[in-house]
Amino acid sequence: MQHSATHTYKRLLGYVKSYKSAAIVAIIGMLGYSAMDATFVWLMQPFIDEGLTERNNTVLSWAPYVVIALVIGRGTFNFLSSYCLAYVGSQVVRSLRQDLFVHMLNLPVSFHDNHSNGELISKITFDTEQVQQAITKALLVLVREGAYVVFLLMVMFNASWKLSLIFLVITPIVAVIVAVVSKRFRKISRNIQNAMGDVTRCSEQMLAGHKVIHGFNGQQQETERFGRVNNINRLQRVKMDATKALSVSVIQILAASSMAVILVLISMPGMIDSITSGTFVTLISSMMLMLRPLKQLSNVNSELQRGIAAAQSIFAVLDTEIEKDNGTLEIAKAKGHIEIKDLSFAYPNSLDPVITNLNLDLKPGTNIALVGRSGSGKSTLSSLLPRFYDVEPSSAITLDGIPLCDYKLRSLRQQFAIVSQQVVLFNDTIANNIMYGLETPLSDEALMDVAKKAHVWEFVKDLPLGLNTLVGEDGVMLSGGQRQRIAIARAIVKDAPILILDEATSALDTESEKLIQNALESLMRDKTAIIIAHRLSTIEQVDCIYVLDKGRIIEQGTHQELLTQNGTYAALAKMQQGEN
Ligand code: ADP
Ligand code: MG
Repeated sequence: MQHSATHTYKRLLGYVKSYKSAAIVAIIGMLGYSAMDATFVWLMQPFIDEGLTERNNTVLSWAPYVVIALVIGRGTFNFLSSYCLAYVGSQVVRSLRQDLFVHMLNLPVSFHDNHSNGELISKITFDTEQVQQAITKALLVLVREGAYVVFLLMVMFNASWKLSLIFLVITPIVAVIVAVVSKRFRKISRNIQNAMGDVTRCSEQMLAGHKVIHGFNGQQQETERFGRVNNINRLQRVKMDATKALSVSVIQILAASSMAVILVLISMPGMIDSITSGTFVTLISSMMLMLRPLKQLSNVNSELQRGIAAAQSIFAVLDTEIEKDNGTLEIAKAKGHIEIKDLSFAYPNSLDPVITNLNLDLKPGTNIALVGRSGSGKSTLSSLLPRFYDVEPSSAITLDGIPLCDYKLRSLRQQFAIVSQQVVLFNDTIANNIMYGLETPLSDEALMDVAKKAHVWEFVKDLPLGLNTLVGEDGVMLSGGQRQRIAIARAIVKDAPILILDEATSALDTESEKLIQNALESLMRDKTAIIIAHRLSTIEQVDCIYVLDKGRIIEQGTHQELLTQNGTYAALAKMQQGEN
């Protein structure tokens, strides 16, 4: 959804409004600055005509003081406007960034499925920067140089309104050029942003997949991919600058032509006598001086359009609906009764159902396991319970007899502790990673106890800083198994009534798995637990095993029951036994 430029201006203005006083001071400063400059030109006429031509000493003796006063005034106004403008611009970019960050944080999982991190990061860093530039630089030129042009026109009209009329003829032509060029600028700017998103996305992929790329000798491929997007980005910039240069030249040619016309008119017999040297100098200086602000004004357009395009891309994200959280129910601790009735589910971006007519009744305190081929929908099912995706009808999944969406999201998710295949660690200490999301930190003894239970302590105890060791970005300092143990510790700390273990021990070797199994079993004892596991030996004790295939339950029962059924599960079990 792309809003009109006017709508975007208005919305941006809404951000400026919170810093109204600073913005007003900035504008006053800019107007003052231009007024000082124009006054200087205006005073040239009396200086020349009265001071020089008529040899008036008083006028001349005042001149130096006037010049100093004007320059001091100009400097003061300049400082005021620049400072206030920088203040407003930085505040706007800060609040845009904050809004984007918070909004992205609260967008549903499905949004993030469809957008790459690089693209979104580029919005937070690059696009907001573009908006700031548009606001500060463009506003500065627009108001200051715009006012300067108006003031200079006033000076010209004051000197000779007849001759100055010529200048007004070109105004509509300039307006048309600016309007046409604006549209093109905006289009190119959007392309630049997209290209920039591609550049970030590509770099991100290279950085994240560095090892894989090396392992598979993909350097050439990645280099070429980056070369392509990098060049597209460059091409857009060239287009932008070419358009800019062209429009500036055309406008300047127009302005200079009208100046030439005026010069012709002045030289005509009737005219030449009616004009004093002061008027002549003022007229010509005004026209000459007008070329620079005119150039800047037509140049600033690109900046402005770039900012508008960036703002549109930011607002598009801000307008994306955040996770629905219309539930009102708040609970401290659920009993943990999960019922799934005739559930079918397809991901928002595809039509193929991943889960079909699935029924499951999970009594409080029971432990179940989901097994099945990869892609059979086990992870999907487990991600529906904490409402990472919404289901239709909403009553298809209930917790303690109440549809999931009737709970406040925060309250609902408080009921789940999830340990999944991909462990995400934050760039913080091991201790803080274990206590992530906890309102009151654990005492040292309690933390140590958890660390021992999850067998984190085993690899932490020899580190010089112990639990206060930093894990590095996304835990790069740790092995897969170590990361999983931290995730398990996190789940122990959360102490939620429902536990979801999605291949939580897949990265552990058989021995560590056995050790952690004990910890997990004591953790699951009085809880509702859903265990997804490949190694069947780890789920033999659960109350019921469900075998999933293409989103349907094809077998269910205890380990023994399923073995006697001699179906898919039994075949799987036999195969794994063979491996051992
Ligand atoms: P399992 O955990 O049993 O290996 P998943 O639940 O992860 O299987 O995946 C089930 C199916 O859903 C797969 O076909 C997979 O391609 C698809 N799928 C998984 N995640 C998404 C997603 N975010 N968007 C669209 N399809 C997905
Ligand atoms: Mg899975």
